[in-house]
Formats: sequence, structure tokens, C-alpha cells
Amino acid sequence: MAQNDLIHSVKDRFQNVFGKAPLQTAYAPGRVNLLGEHTDYNGGFVLPMPLTLGTAVAVGFGGAAGTVHISSTAFDAVEQRMLSDRSADHWTDYVIGSLIHLLDGVLVKEGLQVMVSTDLPIGSGLSSSAAVEVATIRATAALFEMKLSDVDIAKLARKAENAFVGVPCGIMDQYSVSVGEPGTAVFLDTRTLRSEVAALPDSHHFVIVHSGVSHKLSEDGYEKRVSECHEACAALGVEMLSDLGLSDLPSVDALPSPINARARHIVTENDRVLRAVSALQDQDLALFAQLMIESHNSQRDDYAVSVPEVDALVQGALDAGAEGARLTGGGFGGSIVAFMPKHRVDVWSKTIDAQFPNARILAVT
Ligand code: ADP
Ligand code: MG
Repeated sequence: MAQNDLIHSVKDRFQNVFGKAPLQTAYAPGRVNLLGEHTDYNGGFVLPMPLTLGTAVAVGFGGAAGTVHISSTAFDAVEQRMLSDRSADHWTDYVIGSLIHLLDGVLVKEGLQVMVSTDLPIGSGLSSSAAVEVATIRATAALFEMKLSDVDIAKLARKAENAFVGVPCGIMDQYSVSVGEPGTAVFLDTRTLRSEVAALPDSHHFVIVHSGVSHKLSEDGYEKRVSECHEACAALGVEMLSDLGLSDLPSVDALPSPINARARHIVTENDRVLRAVSALQDQDLALFAQLMIESHNSQRDDYAVSVPEVDALVQGALDAGAEGARLTGGGFGGSIVAFMPKHRVDVWSKTIDAQFPNARILAVT
């Protein structure tokens, strides 16, 4: 569904469920990360690309002060939460957590009503969570006539996911879906929050394929990697792993295992993002594709966030004619992104469908 259709449909749903028109709506896309995995919570570089799939949120006033009634086309029920709530391990946490962080210190005299509608696959590594947070904050900020920049919105959304939902993610997802432009990638330095638009080749598509193995970022694996990175920083006496460059690899390698491998992934992945951005500028697509493959190998061997089904899918994607392919997102299952000339996509997709019955093509951009 195009962005405008999604906004129309969320308005209709709001009207049907709450019996009146919403006062504000907002939209945020999903994203796929092209390169720079797990670098964002290490102060490093990332290269995400907003998608043409996304999430629309409609908001209005209704009900008693302090209450928030939330509904989503993905879950159908109308749930009641409070602005004084804590996390409840429920899908509404993403909405209520965003509202609580946005409205901190604001006098809210009436209840709120929120409707969410999406054409993104949920929990597949395309950042449906950041899209919900950013669209909720953007629509509600408009409702309260608060002036926030796209970067401010991204920061609040990340806070909601970290502090309220309890997922220790970096800022990549929220930044790319709040600030990015569809059709381009966002080259972001997560430490300075400075970003540049990276133009993408007209000749190629990125195809996102779900492996059929679902992930949950709040499960142990992701947090474990975050704490392993902290351990590596402490051992090396640096504030963040992005303080290190390729010339520091000998001291990284000398750390005990597996901390050495975790840190090596971050250091080499940061370097790959920089080289990939130059490759795009130089239109050296072969190098760009090669860096995607190296990134996958590093995620598999050093960062240990891949699973056999994902490794097989990456290899199958390359065998079927993709020039580059890699695990994208937090890992432990989830999706891959494959890079190929546009004219190859149809035949390639048929091959993948036939060879990987559990895999699902989620988006072609
Ligand atoms: P991803 O961000 O990769 O899609 P996450 O596990 O980070 O996966 O976030 C998925 C969670 O976000 C869902 O389980 C749900 O709680 C919430 N969510 C995302 N999109 C929606 C939606 N349209 N309606 C309701 N909740 C949503
Ligand atoms: Mg998410």
C-alpha cells in the first residue's frame, strides 16, 4: 500500500473504532540495513535504507484524562493503557512508551485514542517497532502542537524502546525511519548523529527475504552482544569500540575469546561501511556487493548472530544470481538483504521460492 492509502485506511479504522475522525495522522516507513550491523550501539557507522512499506498512526482525544485507548489493524482489539503505566510485555508498550516519553511534563487534560495501521511485516527485522514509535510520536506531537525535529523524534523513539519496552537497541532504526528518504540510504555516524544521503544505483534492487526463523530482540542474544562489547571496551580502555580502527586489530585479537571476535566484527564492520559509501559514490557496485558478503561472514564467524537457515539462504541467494547478500537486522534468525540487477529479480525470486519453502520475500526496493 502506498503511504497515502495507508493514511486513508488508518483514518477509516479510527473512525470505525472510536466513532469520530482522528485529529492528526503520521506515517513512518520500515527500513532495511544495507551494511553496518551491530555498530549502532558501539558509536559506529550504519547504512540503512527506508522502505516503501510502513506504518500509519492516527490520534485524537477521548476518554478520561490519563487513559489511552490503543488499537492496531495487526491485533484488532482495543486496549486501555494509562499514561502512568510501566511496561507490560505487550504490543501496546511501543505506543504507550512513546507517548509517555513524549508527554513527560505535559499537562494532558483528556484521554487519548490511537489507531495503528501497517503494511510492514511485524517482527521480521524491518523495524516495524521503530515505525510505530516514530509515527506515534510524530502524530501526537502535532496533536499537542509541539515542534520537534526529525532527529528529536528519533531520539525520543529510541528512548521509548530502550527505557520503556526494554530493548537495548541503538539509534539506527529510529533515525533512519524518522530522517531518511525512500529511494536513498542514510549514511549515519551514530556517535555524532550526523548523516548524509547516500544515492543508490538505478540499475539494482535490494530484495529482503525472511528466513522463516523468527527473532526476538529482547531475548538473550542481543543483550549478550551489547554486554560483550562493553567488556571489550573495558579491556581495551576505550569508551566505545568505534574509537578503534583497523590498526588496532592486533590488540583486539589479543583479547580473550569470544570478546576478541565480537570486537573484531565491530571494527571491521565500521570500515566496511566507509568503504561501501565510497564504492556507491564511485559506482563500484562489485565492491559494494563484495562488502555485503564480507559483512555476512563477519556476522556469522565473529559476531555469531547468524543461524544455519540464514547462512543457507545467503548462499542460496548468491548461487541464484544475487551479487551481494547478507543477514540484516539483529540476527538470531530474521531476514537477509540481497543485491542484484533489476532485470534478474523475477527469475531469482522464483528460484528462491522453489529452493527455500520456509523463506518469504518481504520487499523489493
Ligand atoms: P521489528 O522492529 O523488526 O519488526 P521488533 O521485535 O523490534 O521487530 O518489534 C515488533 C513489535 O513491535 C511487535 O511485536 C509489536 O509489539 C510492535 N509493533 C510493530 N508494529 C506494530 C503494529 N502495526 N501494531 C501493533 N504493534 C506493532
Ligand atoms: Mg524493532
